[in-house]
Amino acid sequence: MDMKIIGFSLTDKCNASCEVCCFQCNPHGLFLVDEYVAKRYIDEGAKTGTVRNLYFSGGEPLLFPETLGRLARYALDQYGIHSLVVTNGFWGADIERGMPMMRELAECGVTNVRISADLYHQKYVPADAVRGALRIAHDLGVLSHVTVMDVKGHPNIRATIDLLRPEIYLAPFIAWYPLYLPEAVLAGKRLGIGRQDLEEPIPWGACRCRDFIGPRLFWDGHIYACCSQFTHEIPRMRVGKVGETTLIEAWKRVNRDPILDVIHRVGVTWLAERALELGYPIRDRYTSECELCRDLLCNAELVSKLEPLALKESQRLRLAGLFEH
Ligand code: SF4
Ligand code: SF4
Repeated sequence: MDMKIIGFSLTDKCNASCEVCCFQCNPHGLFLVDEYVAKRYIDEGAKTGTVRNLYFSGGEPLLFPETLGRLARYALDQYGIHSLVVTNGFWGADIERGMPMMRELAECGVTNVRISADLYHQKYVPADAVRGALRIAHDLGVLSHVTVMDVKGHPNIRATIDLLRPEIYLAPFIAWYPLYLPEAVLAGKRLGIGRQDLEEPIPWGACRCRDFIGPRLFWDGHIYACCSQFTHEIPRMRVGKVGETTLIEAWKRVNRDPILDVIHRVGVTWLAERALELGYPIRDRYTSECELCRDLLCNAELVSKLEPLALKESQRLRLAGLFEH
């Protein structure tokens, strides 16, 4: 499978401390991806000829605009690769500083800015700041979309629009993501949210991978196989480590892994169906297909039974792919 993006979870530091943060980022974060390492990975990824974008997330990557800008500029100047950034929009609080910062990043090849906003984020990031960020990104032509994390029934989307209007309408679209809560938060019920508010019936016919498009380098030095919010919780997804593995080696591991290959080609449904046949007690509700993926892949006994089945299916799908082309 082709490497389409290189993801950088640039830092674990964030100006916010959202209870819903899947990586538990906060202002005390210490790590920043090493710039030298990141450039070597950009070199490697670019040589595949298939990488279309860099993807920067965090923590809050715009706490380090100089680092981000240098990496984006490097990818643009050396290889013509553009960059996408996910941010909470805190920098929109001060238009006088936010505008030149974002203009410079746009000149460095940042073409898409995705803003995370919802009631959970706005507890820490003032709505005025996000409205300012929306305005700046729109005026510079780099506003991609707004993502809202929500429970089922989507009450948060309406409230977020109310909070951020009229600027939220500058975004080409507003995307909804299923809220993921770390187990500790769920258990503590700090947000008054339980599993029953999050889980929905599995869309069996449509369990496609949304974020399996390239490796992701984390601030902790590990390389993960996909960019899902669950990836760091699934041991199989850890395909390399800075200093031990090149990016190409890590991606080869992904490609040689029959289970990951099948998930990438046809989604997690095929594996879930085999797991059911093997008697594995799949729940009828999950928060997302990625949580189902984590449920399956974190069970070592199940994985050992799925491996030979996935090997055959992976070979069949590869062969079928040959005839398609
Ligand atoms: S803004 Fe994003 S990275 Fe920062 S704490 Fe909230 S969810 Fe985590
Ligand atoms: S379904 Fe699995 S492999 Fe695909 S994006 Fe989600 S966690 Fe990653």
